[in-house]
Amino acid sequence: MTAPQPARPLCPPLLSPQPRIAVIGGSLTGPAATLLLLAAGFDNVTCYEATPSSAPLGGGLISLEHSALDTLEGLGISQDEIVRYPSEKIIEIRHQRGAAPQRIERLYPGRSTTWSLLHNALTARVPVHRGRRLERLSHRGGTPVLHFTGGASTTADVIVFADGRASTGRALLDPARRLHYAGYVGYRGRTGQPQNSQDDFLRLQPCTGVQFNIAPVPGGLDWTFYLDATAEQYTAQFGAPPQQRLFAFGRHISTAARSHVDQHATAHLSARHAATVHATRTRMAVPVFDIDAPTRMVWPIGDGYAVLLGDSLAPVRPHTARGANNGIEQAAGLAVALRQHTRHGADLGAALNGWQRRFLPAAAAAVRLGPVIGSRLGLGATSHRTAPADQPALTAR
Ligand SMILES: Cc1cc2nc3c(=O)[nH]c(=O)nc-3n(C[C@H](O)[C@H](O)[C@H](O)COP(=O)(O)OP(=O)(O)OC[C@H]3O[C@@H](n4cnc5c(N)ncnc54)[C@H](O)[C@@H]3O)c2cc1C
Repeated sequence: MTAPQPARPLCPPLLSPQPRIAVIGGSLTGPAATLLLLAAGFDNVTCYEATPSSAPLGGGLISLEHSALDTLEGLGISQDEIVRYPSEKIIEIRHQRGAAPQRIERLYPGRSTTWSLLHNALTARVPVHRGRRLERLSHRGGTPVLHFTGGASTTADVIVFADGRASTGRALLDPARRLHYAGYVGYRGRTGQPQNSQDDFLRLQPCTGVQFNIAPVPGGLDWTFYLDATAEQYTAQFGAPPQQRLFAFGRHISTAARSHVDQHATAHLSARHAATVHATRTRMAVPVFDIDAPTRMVWPIGDGYAVLLGDSLAPVRPHTARGANNGIEQAAGLAVALRQHTRHGADLGAALNGWQRRFLPAAAAAVRLGPVIGSRLGLGATSHRTAPADQPALTAR
């Protein structure tokens, strides 16, 4: 009888030295990527964030599809931790001229969380080095060098840019792709009163050029009111042009901005929803942007690489509900590609190109979908290229 062969180890020995990985951006995609890379066995991963403290950039409600939820669950972030209202239902009420309002119920293939719940869950598990704004890259003897505001610098083999829609990484690596203001704003609010009458995501389309979404979040209701605003109107409401003020927080919200939203609420919403808007103290606003679809995600820097993912790669319109989903899915794929390099000696460039080939089409599709949805809703600068009224629902969430 032959002696049993020893079992093959589940994790073969490392064939390539561990790359030093720098992740730029500590909001959602950056901490998710950091955590995924640490969980994949990389021990030299550092996440750098420009701001000294967290601020909810994307705002409140974020819907995550099953694949992103499953990825998070694999990292120990259960739905119990980040999902407070588990309804999958989306109720949409559309008004069309001369016809009775249409009520459509759909099921979302996932669940909703909030920026704060997700950010807190991620950053409780990974250290984020705050107050470190990356300014530029160079390379010394083939090794990429990261230069931060204030003069500090460090080296890394792989630089993962997850620095959002105003990405420094995109400006450095893919400078021709610039943001173009789409001509409308997501005015947002979160009520301070606990809600007891709404569990589902409700979307109202009272007329062309107006959309109102409202859903429960811990402690109240989160709403987004999409309304047209020229760049001049945005500047008057928030004190700076959309390209400069990519997120308008409480301190930027002028009386004019509040009353603009309140007037539209009175004009377009039921008395109940208008009262909710009028009573909302916590407000912010997000101008909607477009960008050319990405054509690559990976760039060589000396002998190392830099990659873009999440909103830094593809800052999609919020209606697509794909921004955070894309970031988490791309980060999970990146960890797989890098693990093939260290565990099995796969060529690093080839592994990253394979990752790009798998994830680029979805990112480009989401970028292209945004203007199609905006146009169907009659929102923004492209609204005159309106799609036929009988077009099937294109809203991703
Ligand atoms: C109204 C609204 C609704 C949305 N709904 C959904 C949804 O339902 N589903 C969904 O998937 N997505 C949704 N999104 C999109 C989602 O919020 C974003 O895609 C997501 O927040 C992007 O995360 P990110 O980490 O890639 O970028 P960001 O959240 O923009 O974070 C980038 C981080 O990088 C930091 N940073 C920037 N520059 C530097 C630098 N040079 N050095 C260091 N750090 C830097 C920033 O300070 C920031 O913390 C929605 C967005 C909005 C506005």
